[in-house]
Amino acid sequence: MILQDDWVKRSGTQALCAVIGLSGHRAFFVGGCVRNALLGVAVTDIDIATDAWPATVMEIAESAGFKVIPTGVDHGTVTVIAGGIHHEVTTFRRDVESNGRRAVVAFSTDLAEDAARRDFTMNALYAHPSGEVVDPLGGIADLRSRRVRFVGDPQQRIREDYLRILRFFRFHAVYGDATQGVDQDGLAACAELADGIATLSAERIGSEMRKLLAAWNPAPAVATMAAAGVLNRVLPGSDPRALAPLVHLEQDIPARWQRRLAVLGGDVDGWRLSRQEMAELGRIRDEIGSSLTPAALGWSLGETPAQDVLLCRAALLESALPQDWHAQIQRGAQSTFPVTAADLMPDLQGPELGQRLKSLLAAWLKSDLTLTREALLRTTTFEG
Ligand code: ATP
Ligand code: MG
Repeated sequence: MILQDDWVKRSGTQALCAVIGLSGHRAFFVGGCVRNALLGVAVTDIDIATDAWPATVMEIAESAGFKVIPTGVDHGTVTVIAGGIHHEVTTFRRDVESNGRRAVVAFSTDLAEDAARRDFTMNALYAHPSGEVVDPLGGIADLRSRRVRFVGDPQQRIREDYLRILRFFRFHAVYGDATQGVDQDGLAACAELADGIATLSAERIGSEMRKLLAAWNPAPAVATMAAAGVLNRVLPGSDPRALAPLVHLEQDIPARWQRRLAVLGGDVDGWRLSRQEMAELGRIRDEIGSSLTPAALGWSLGETPAQDVLLCRAALLESALPQDWHAQIQRGAQSTFPVTAADLMPDLQGPELGQRLKSLLAAWLKSDLTLTREALLRTTTFEG
Protein backbone atom coordinates (compact mmCIF):
# COMPACT_ATOMS: atom_id res chain seq x y z
CA MET A 1 0.00 0.00 0.00
CA ILE A 2 1.39 3.42 -1.01
CA LEU A 3 0.36 6.76 0.45
CA GLN A 4 -0.31 9.29 -2.31
CA ASP A 5 -0.95 12.30 -0.07
CA ASP A 6 0.49 15.72 -0.91
CA TRP A 7 2.26 16.04 2.44
CA VAL A 8 4.33 12.95 1.66
CA LYS A 9 5.58 14.48 -1.58
CA ARG A 10 6.38 17.97 -0.29
CA SER A 11 9.92 18.94 -1.26
CA GLY A 12 11.10 19.96 2.24
CA THR A 13 9.85 16.71 3.75
CA GLN A 14 11.41 14.66 0.95
CA ALA A 15 14.71 16.57 1.26
CA LEU A 16 14.86 15.86 5.01
CA CYS A 17 14.24 12.14 4.48
CA ALA A 18 16.83 12.14 1.68
CA VAL A 19 19.63 13.61 3.81
CA ILE A 20 18.90 11.10 6.57
CA GLY A 21 19.04 8.33 3.96
CA LEU A 22 22.28 9.63 2.40
CA SER A 23 23.95 9.46 5.81
CA GLY A 24 23.28 5.74 5.89
CA HIS A 25 20.28 5.92 8.23
CA ARG A 26 16.61 5.15 7.72
CA ALA A 27 13.63 7.49 8.06
CA PHE A 28 9.95 6.51 8.23
CA PHE A 29 6.76 8.46 8.69
CA VAL A 30 5.04 7.08 11.77
CA GLY A 31 1.96 7.20 13.95
CA GLY A 32 -0.88 9.69 13.48
CA CYS A 33 0.19 10.95 10.04
CA VAL A 34 0.22 7.45 8.51
CA ARG A 35 -2.96 6.41 10.32
CA ASN A 36 -4.84 9.52 9.22
CA ALA A 37 -3.56 9.32 5.64
CA LEU A 38 -4.90 5.76 5.44
CA LEU A 39 -8.24 6.96 6.80
CA GLY A 40 -8.37 9.91 4.41
CA VAL A 41 -8.36 12.31 7.37
CA ALA A 42 -6.38 15.57 7.35
CA VAL A 43 -2.78 15.25 8.55
CA THR A 44 -1.53 18.06 10.79
CA ASP A 45 1.65 16.79 12.46
CA ILE A 46 4.39 14.91 10.66
CA ASP A 47 6.28 12.48 12.87
CA ILE A 48 9.35 10.73 11.55
CA ALA A 49 11.02 7.72 13.17
CA THR A 50 14.67 6.99 12.50
CA ASP A 51 17.50 4.69 13.54
CA ALA A 52 19.84 7.71 13.80
CA TRP A 53 20.59 8.94 17.33
CA PRO A 54 19.28 12.46 18.15
CA ALA A 55 22.72 14.09 18.04
CA THR A 56 23.25 12.57 14.59
CA VAL A 57 19.84 13.80 13.40
CA MET A 58 20.76 17.31 14.53
CA GLU A 59 24.11 17.16 12.78
CA ILE A 60 22.66 15.82 9.53
CA ALA A 61 19.78 18.30 9.47
CA GLU A 62 21.90 21.31 10.39
CA SER A 63 24.55 20.61 7.80
CA ALA A 64 21.79 20.36 5.19
CA GLY A 65 20.74 23.88 6.22
CA PHE A 66 17.52 23.04 8.06
CA LYS A 67 16.53 24.79 11.26
CA VAL A 68 16.71 22.38 14.19
CA ILE A 69 15.06 22.63 17.60
CA PRO A 70 16.21 20.17 20.30
CA THR A 71 12.62 19.59 21.51
CA GLY A 72 13.18 16.57 23.71
CA VAL A 73 16.62 15.16 22.96
CA ASP A 74 16.53 13.02 26.11
CA HIS A 75 13.44 11.23 24.80
CA GLY A 76 14.95 11.11 21.34
CA THR A 77 12.93 13.90 19.71
CA VAL A 78 14.33 16.68 17.54
CA THR A 79 12.15 19.11 15.58
CA VAL A 80 13.40 19.87 12.07
CA ILE A 81 11.86 22.66 10.02
CA ALA A 82 12.16 21.83 6.33
CA GLY A 83 10.24 23.62 3.61
CA GLY A 84 8.52 25.65 6.33
CA ILE A 85 7.03 22.49 7.87
CA HIS A 86 7.79 21.17 11.37
CA HIS A 87 8.87 17.53 11.49
CA GLU A 88 9.21 15.74 14.81
CA VAL A 89 12.07 13.33 14.26
CA THR A 90 12.28 10.67 16.97
CA THR A 91 14.87 7.94 17.31
CA PHE A 92 13.50 4.39 17.43
CA ARG A 93 12.98 3.39 21.03
CA ARG A 94 12.34 0.24 22.98
CA ASP A 95 10.92 -0.32 26.43
CA VAL A 96 13.61 -1.66 28.71
CA GLU A 97 12.07 -1.64 32.13
CA SER A 98 8.91 -0.54 33.80
CA ASN A 99 8.47 0.78 37.30
CA GLY A 100 4.73 0.18 37.26
CA ARG A 101 3.91 3.66 36.06
CA ARG A 102 5.82 4.54 32.95
CA ALA A 103 8.07 2.55 30.73
CA VAL A 104 11.71 3.55 30.72
CA VAL A 105 12.89 3.73 27.11
CA ALA A 106 16.21 3.30 25.40
CA PHE A 107 17.16 4.18 21.82
CA SER A 108 17.10 1.38 19.30
CA THR A 109 17.99 0.72 15.68
CA ASP A 110 15.09 -1.70 15.23
CA LEU A 111 11.72 -0.68 13.81
CA ALA A 112 10.02 -3.75 15.31
CA GLU A 113 11.15 -2.72 18.82
CA ASP A 114 9.89 0.79 18.21
CA ALA A 115 6.51 -0.57 17.11
CA ALA A 116 6.26 -2.79 20.20
CA ARG A 117 6.49 0.14 22.62
CA ARG A 118 3.65 2.09 20.97
CA ASP A 119 0.15 2.01 22.46
CA PHE A 120 -2.23 0.73 19.76
CA THR A 121 -1.72 -1.20 16.55
CA MET A 122 -3.29 1.62 14.50
CA ASN A 123 -0.64 3.97 15.96
CA ALA A 124 2.21 1.61 15.10
CA LEU A 125 2.02 2.21 11.34
CA TYR A 126 5.03 3.41 9.39
CA ALA A 127 5.66 4.56 5.82
CA HIS A 128 8.85 4.85 3.75
CA PRO A 129 9.56 8.29 2.27
CA SER A 130 8.25 6.77 -0.99
CA GLY A 131 4.86 6.40 0.71
CA GLU A 132 5.04 2.61 0.99
CA VAL A 133 3.35 1.56 4.22
CA VAL A 134 5.10 -0.71 6.73
CA ASP A 135 2.71 -2.49 9.07
CA PRO A 136 4.57 -4.67 11.58
CA LEU A 137 1.61 -5.43 13.89
CA GLY A 138 -1.49 -5.71 11.73
CA GLY A 139 -2.52 -2.11 12.28
CA ILE A 140 -4.07 -1.73 8.83
CA ALA A 141 -6.55 -4.54 9.43
CA ASP A 142 -7.50 -3.03 12.81
CA LEU A 143 -7.83 0.38 11.21
CA ARG A 144 -10.09 -1.06 8.50
CA SER A 145 -12.37 -2.64 11.11
CA ARG A 146 -11.97 0.47 13.27
CA ARG A 147 -10.72 -1.56 16.19
CA VAL A 148 -8.52 0.10 18.79
CA ARG A 149 -6.28 -2.74 19.94
CA PHE A 150 -3.40 -2.57 22.41
CA VAL A 151 0.03 -3.58 21.21
CA GLY A 152 0.85 -6.65 23.32
CA ASP A 153 -0.84 -7.53 26.60
CA PRO A 154 -3.30 -4.76 27.56
CA GLN A 155 -2.79 -5.15 31.31
CA GLN A 156 0.97 -4.95 31.05
CA ARG A 157 0.83 -1.99 28.69
CA ILE A 158 -1.55 -0.12 31.00
CA ARG A 159 0.66 -0.79 34.03
CA GLU A 160 3.52 0.86 32.15
CA ASP A 161 1.48 4.02 31.59
CA TYR A 162 -2.05 4.48 32.95
CA LEU A 163 -2.70 7.29 30.47
CA ARG A 164 -3.22 4.49 27.96
CA ILE A 165 -6.61 3.83 29.61
CA LEU A 166 -7.78 7.27 28.56
CA ARG A 167 -6.08 7.03 25.18
CA PHE A 168 -7.93 3.73 24.56
CA PHE A 169 -11.28 5.52 24.94
CA ARG A 170 -10.07 8.61 23.11
CA PHE A 171 -8.95 6.69 20.02
CA HIS A 172 -12.16 4.66 20.17
CA ALA A 173 -14.20 7.88 20.28
CA VAL A 174 -12.33 9.35 17.32
CA TYR A 175 -11.55 6.32 15.14
CA GLY A 176 -13.51 3.39 16.56
CA ASP A 177 -16.71 1.81 15.35
CA ALA A 178 -19.46 2.96 17.72
CA THR A 179 -21.85 0.24 16.58
CA GLN A 180 -19.33 -2.51 17.35
CA GLY A 181 -18.19 -1.28 20.73
CA VAL A 182 -14.67 -1.42 22.10
CA ASP A 183 -12.16 -4.25 22.06
CA GLN A 184 -13.23 -6.50 24.96
CA ASP A 185 -9.75 -7.46 26.21
CA GLY A 186 -8.71 -3.83 26.22
CA LEU A 187 -11.88 -2.80 28.02
CA ALA A 188 -11.53 -5.49 30.69
CA ALA A 189 -7.95 -4.36 31.39
CA CYS A 190 -9.01 -0.69 31.61
CA ALA A 191 -11.78 -1.57 34.08
CA GLU A 192 -9.52 -3.74 36.19
CA LEU A 193 -6.72 -1.17 36.39
CA ALA A 194 -8.83 2.00 36.60
CA ASP A 195 -7.43 2.81 40.07
CA GLY A 196 -4.11 3.64 38.42
CA ILE A 197 -5.64 6.81 36.93
CA ALA A 198 -5.03 8.40 40.33
CA THR A 199 -1.30 8.37 39.57
CA LEU A 200 -1.64 10.57 36.45
CA SER A 201 -0.92 14.29 36.42
CA ALA A 202 -3.80 16.72 35.93
CA GLU A 203 -2.05 17.99 32.83
CA ARG A 204 -2.05 14.63 31.06
CA ILE A 205 -5.64 13.84 32.10
CA GLY A 206 -6.95 17.22 30.98
CA SER A 207 -5.22 17.14 27.64
CA GLU A 208 -6.36 13.61 26.80
CA MET A 209 -9.95 14.20 27.94
CA ARG A 210 -10.30 17.39 25.93
CA LYS A 211 -9.34 15.52 22.79
CA LEU A 212 -11.78 12.75 23.66
CA LEU A 213 -14.66 15.16 24.24
CA ALA A 214 -13.87 17.02 21.01
CA ALA A 215 -14.53 13.86 18.97
CA TRP A 216 -17.44 14.02 16.57
CA ASN A 217 -19.44 11.63 18.79
CA PRO A 218 -17.84 10.83 22.15
CA ALA A 219 -21.10 9.52 23.70
CA PRO A 220 -20.60 5.76 23.19
CA ALA A 221 -17.00 5.93 24.46
CA VAL A 222 -18.01 8.00 27.49
CA ALA A 223 -20.89 5.63 28.32
CA THR A 224 -18.44 2.74 28.17
CA MET A 225 -15.99 4.63 30.39
CA ALA A 226 -18.78 5.14 32.93
CA ALA A 227 -19.71 1.45 32.90
CA ALA A 228 -16.05 0.49 33.34
CA GLY A 229 -15.61 2.75 36.39
CA VAL A 230 -13.21 5.04 34.53
CA LEU A 231 -15.39 8.14 34.11
CA ASN A 232 -15.93 8.77 37.83
CA ARG A 233 -12.18 8.62 38.34
CA VAL A 234 -11.48 11.43 35.89
CA LEU A 235 -14.69 13.35 36.46
CA PRO A 236 -16.15 12.58 39.92
CA GLY A 237 -19.86 13.26 40.24
CA SER A 238 -20.52 13.37 36.49
CA ASP A 239 -23.51 11.80 34.76
CA PRO A 240 -23.08 10.55 31.17
CA ARG A 241 -26.78 10.25 30.33
CA ALA A 242 -27.35 13.63 28.67
CA LEU A 243 -24.30 13.34 26.38
CA ALA A 244 -25.92 11.25 23.63
CA PRO A 245 -28.99 13.53 23.42
CA LEU A 246 -26.62 16.52 23.30
CA VAL A 247 -24.63 15.08 20.40
CA HIS A 248 -27.91 14.31 18.64
CA LEU A 249 -29.09 17.91 19.05
CA GLU A 250 -25.79 19.34 17.82
CA GLN A 251 -26.40 18.16 14.24
CA ASP A 252 -24.07 20.32 12.15
CA ILE A 253 -22.92 22.58 14.99
CA PRO A 254 -19.17 22.16 15.48
CA ALA A 255 -18.13 19.94 18.40
CA ARG A 256 -16.83 21.73 21.51
CA TRP A 257 -15.31 19.85 24.42
CA GLN A 258 -16.43 22.63 26.78
CA ARG A 259 -20.09 21.99 25.88
CA ARG A 260 -19.75 18.24 26.31
CA LEU A 261 -18.01 18.76 29.64
CA ALA A 262 -20.72 21.15 30.80
CA VAL A 263 -23.44 18.60 30.12
CA LEU A 264 -21.57 15.82 31.93
CA GLY A 265 -21.28 17.85 35.12
CA GLY A 266 -18.83 16.65 37.77
CA ASP A 267 -15.68 17.96 39.32
CA VAL A 268 -12.89 19.14 36.96
CA ASP A 269 -10.28 19.76 39.66
CA GLY A 270 -8.10 17.04 38.18
CA TRP A 271 -7.94 18.56 34.68
CA ARG A 272 -5.74 21.63 35.01
CA LEU A 273 -8.05 23.91 33.05
CA SER A 274 -6.87 27.49 32.58
CA ARG A 275 -8.54 30.22 34.61
CA GLN A 276 -10.33 31.39 31.48
CA GLU A 277 -11.59 27.88 30.65
CA MET A 278 -12.82 27.41 34.24
CA ALA A 279 -14.65 30.74 34.10
CA GLU A 280 -16.34 29.90 30.81
CA LEU A 281 -17.36 26.44 32.01
CA GLY A 282 -18.75 27.97 35.20
CA ARG A 283 -20.82 30.51 33.25
CA ILE A 284 -22.25 27.83 30.98
CA ARG A 285 -23.08 25.52 33.89
CA ASP A 286 -24.70 28.36 35.89
CA GLU A 287 -26.99 29.35 33.05
CA ILE A 288 -28.10 25.82 32.19
CA GLY A 289 -30.35 26.00 35.25
CA SER A 290 -31.38 29.65 34.79
CA SER A 291 -34.45 30.93 32.96
CA LEU A 292 -32.63 33.40 30.70
CA THR A 293 -34.07 33.52 27.17
CA PRO A 294 -31.89 32.82 24.12
CA ALA A 295 -31.53 36.55 23.44
CA ALA A 296 -30.63 37.27 27.07
CA LEU A 297 -28.03 34.50 26.94
CA GLY A 298 -26.62 35.89 23.70
CA TRP A 299 -26.21 39.29 25.37
CA SER A 300 -24.78 37.90 28.62
CA LEU A 301 -22.42 35.24 27.33
CA GLY A 302 -21.81 35.82 23.63
CA GLU A 303 -22.94 33.58 20.80
CA THR A 304 -20.95 30.39 21.29
CA PRO A 305 -21.46 29.87 25.04
CA ALA A 306 -25.13 30.88 24.66
CA GLN A 307 -25.50 28.15 22.06
CA ASP A 308 -23.80 25.74 24.47
CA VAL A 309 -26.23 26.60 27.27
CA LEU A 310 -29.31 26.05 25.11
CA LEU A 311 -28.02 22.77 23.72
CA CYS A 312 -27.15 21.50 27.23
CA ARG A 313 -30.51 22.63 28.63
CA ALA A 314 -32.44 20.85 25.91
CA ALA A 315 -30.34 17.69 26.33
CA LEU A 316 -30.72 17.63 30.12
CA LEU A 317 -34.45 18.44 30.09
CA GLU A 318 -35.08 16.17 27.10
CA SER A 319 -36.84 19.06 25.41
CA ALA A 320 -36.66 20.61 21.96
CA LEU A 321 -34.50 23.63 21.19
CA PRO A 322 -36.37 26.96 21.36
CA GLN A 323 -37.89 28.31 18.14
CA ASP A 324 -35.55 30.52 16.16
CA TRP A 325 -32.84 30.12 18.74
CA HIS A 326 -29.94 31.05 16.46
CA ALA A 327 -31.61 34.29 15.41
CA GLN A 328 -32.58 35.08 19.00
CA ILE A 329 -29.04 34.54 20.28
CA GLN A 330 -27.77 36.81 17.54
CA ARG A 331 -30.29 39.49 18.36
CA GLY A 332 -29.06 39.40 21.97
CA ALA A 333 -25.38 39.39 21.04
CA GLN A 334 -25.93 42.51 18.92
CA SER A 335 -28.01 44.38 21.51
CA THR A 336 -26.82 47.08 23.86
CA PHE A 337 -28.27 47.58 27.33
CA PRO A 338 -30.02 50.92 26.82
CA VAL A 339 -29.42 52.52 30.26
CA THR A 340 -26.10 53.99 31.37
CA ALA A 341 -24.93 55.30 34.73
CA ALA A 342 -25.24 58.85 33.38
CA ASP A 343 -29.00 58.34 32.99
CA LEU A 344 -29.34 57.79 36.75
CA MET A 345 -26.98 60.48 38.03
CA PRO A 346 -26.89 62.68 39.95
CA ASP A 347 -30.01 61.33 41.73
CA LEU A 348 -28.20 58.10 42.48
CA GLN A 349 -24.53 57.66 43.41
CA GLY A 350 -22.11 54.95 44.56
CA PRO A 351 -23.51 51.61 45.72
CA GLU A 352 -27.11 52.74 45.18
CA LEU A 353 -26.35 53.54 41.57
CA GLY A 354 -24.79 50.12 41.12
CA GLN A 355 -27.81 48.44 42.71
CA ARG A 356 -30.24 50.30 40.46
CA LEU A 357 -28.30 49.50 37.32
CA LYS A 358 -28.22 45.85 38.33
CA SER A 359 -31.97 45.66 38.89
CA LEU A 360 -32.68 47.49 35.62
CA LEU A 361 -30.42 45.06 33.80
CA ALA A 362 -32.28 42.13 35.37
CA ALA A 363 -35.62 43.64 34.29
CA TRP A 364 -34.30 44.19 30.78
CA LEU A 365 -33.01 40.60 30.49
CA LYS A 366 -36.30 39.29 31.90
CA SER A 367 -38.22 41.28 29.26
CA ASP A 368 -36.25 39.38 26.60
CA LEU A 369 -34.42 42.64 25.87
CA THR A 370 -37.63 44.37 24.81
CA LEU A 371 -37.91 47.13 27.46
CA THR A 372 -36.76 50.47 26.04
CA ARG A 373 -34.60 53.04 27.77
CA GLU A 374 -37.65 55.18 28.48
CA ALA A 375 -39.64 52.27 29.91
CA LEU A 376 -36.71 51.24 32.10
CA LEU A 377 -36.15 54.78 33.39
CA ARG A 378 -39.87 55.06 34.16
CA THR A 379 -39.45 51.96 36.32
CA THR A 380 -36.80 53.85 38.24
CA THR A 381 -39.05 56.78 39.12
CA PHE A 382 -41.84 54.37 39.90
CA GLU A 383 -39.81 52.38 42.41
CA GLY A 384 -37.55 55.17 43.60
P1 ATP B 1 -3.08 12.94 17.28
O1 ATP B 1 -1.83 13.77 17.50
O2 ATP B 1 -3.73 13.14 15.98
O3 ATP B 1 -4.00 12.99 18.42
P2 ATP B 1 -1.22 10.78 17.34
O4 ATP B 1 -1.32 9.34 16.98
O5 ATP B 1 -0.19 11.60 16.65
O6 ATP B 1 -2.64 11.41 17.22
P3 ATP B 1 0.09 11.50 19.76
O7 ATP B 1 -0.46 11.58 21.13
O8 ATP B 1 0.56 12.75 19.10
O9 ATP B 1 -1.00 10.79 18.90
O10 ATP B 1 1.29 10.44 19.80
C1 ATP B 1 2.10 10.14 18.65
C2 ATP B 1 2.42 8.65 18.62
O11 ATP B 1 3.23 8.30 19.75
C3 ATP B 1 1.19 7.75 18.71
O12 ATP B 1 0.65 7.50 17.44
C4 ATP B 1 1.75 6.51 19.38
O13 ATP B 1 2.40 5.69 18.44
C5 ATP B 1 2.82 7.05 20.31
N1 ATP B 1 2.33 7.33 21.69
C6 ATP B 1 1.89 8.50 22.18
N2 ATP B 1 1.55 8.41 23.47
C7 ATP B 1 1.80 7.14 23.84
C8 ATP B 1 1.68 6.41 25.07
N3 ATP B 1 1.20 6.99 26.16
N4 ATP B 1 2.06 5.11 25.05
C9 ATP B 1 2.55 4.53 23.93
N5 ATP B 1 2.67 5.15 22.76
C10 ATP B 1 2.31 6.44 22.70
MG1 MG C 1 0.33 13.69 17.17
